[in-house]
Amino acid sequence: MRDQADFAKNVIAFLSHLDEDEAGPDPHQAAMRLGIPLKDLIVLSRNENPYGPSPAVGAALQDGLFHRYPDSRPFLEALAGYTGFSPEWLVAGAGMDEIISTICRIFLGQGDRALIPVPTYNFYALAAGLCGARPEYQTRAESFALHPHLPGLKMVFLCSPNNPTGEVLSEDSVRSVLEETDAIVFLDEAYIEFAGKSLAGLVREYQNLVVGRTLSKAFGLAGMRLGYAIAPPWIAEQYRRVAPMFSISSPSLAAGTAALADLEWMKECVRRIVSERERMREKLPCALPSQGNFLFLKTRHKSKALAEQLLCRGIIVRDCSSFHGCGERCLRVTVGRREENDSFLEALEILDGKKD
Ligand code: PMP
Repeated sequence: MRDQADFAKNVIAFLSHLDEDEAGPDPHQAAMRLGIPLKDLIVLSRNENPYGPSPAVGAALQDGLFHRYPDSRPFLEALAGYTGFSPEWLVAGAGMDEIISTICRIFLGQGDRALIPVPTYNFYALAAGLCGARPEYQTRAESFALHPHLPGLKMVFLCSPNNPTGEVLSEDSVRSVLEETDAIVFLDEAYIEFAGKSLAGLVREYQNLVVGRTLSKAFGLAGMRLGYAIAPPWIAEQYRRVAPMFSISSPSLAAGTAALADLEWMKECVRRIVSERERMREKLPCALPSQGNFLFLKTRHKSKALAEQLLCRGIIVRDCSSFHGCGERCLRVTVGRREENDSFLEALEILDGKKD
């Protein structure tokens, strides 16, 4: 009888040196551990919208042809209205994570390189690594001194506003990256609704730019798994050949279409979150300016221990020590409802306050 080891040797080599993703504690497990109901936990670790989606989403979920495969056209048309790009420039997927994975599968193979300015969203390195590519980390700065002749460079990942640090890239720095390289540039605008200006318009000028977006943040639909990308039609065409045809379920598509029809709700959520973000920042000298729905804090004490102490008080934040290039003293906190933010501010002052 052969045992597990005989089969485990088939697992791809990349996984053997991969750390388990530390996306912060799972709220359900944390609630169980603390012996409190989930609703009593203050979850400020996942950059979700605390107000949820437009009320129109609930109504849209009432009727559906659930025995039929989904039809994504109404959602793509709603996206066209929202973005100003016609459907041939748009692709949709089950969350932006699926978009990132699929784009990597189109452009990255064994031995290729992917440039990742850090600290940034961890998933780029995982998606690139799973395609056999090698992540090339570079410290993030205002302008990227790219090495356009880096052999095998096929993709560059940019994130603006950046997760976890919250700052945006200037149009000039993105243009110079696009112009200096033959690689495909993936610009992640997951948090763009909380910031000023999107750079998606550059997709009309550059054949090597893909802009990723999501309905998980400003639209309050993280549980529905809805992402999309704005891409030049030649890339969108390749995408449709590679991606699973029906990866977004009918209820998610209906929810997304309804949310895009109620932009006033989304804008009101953004207005409240941005005003709370600025209120919190005034009280947190250790926070960097942020254009996202979160703040990045430099802490006095080690962030891992601090996050654990906050968790014991029923508040979940994101310890950033698992972000490549972040060090051991950074926390990311999502901007929640006012009372949640106040509980966090109070607990942080006690735990990371004056005493060492
Ligand atoms: N990009 C960034 C920068 C993110 O922070 C996230 C989610 N945390 C994603 C992409 C993935 O979003 P989605 O929920 O659409 O998969």
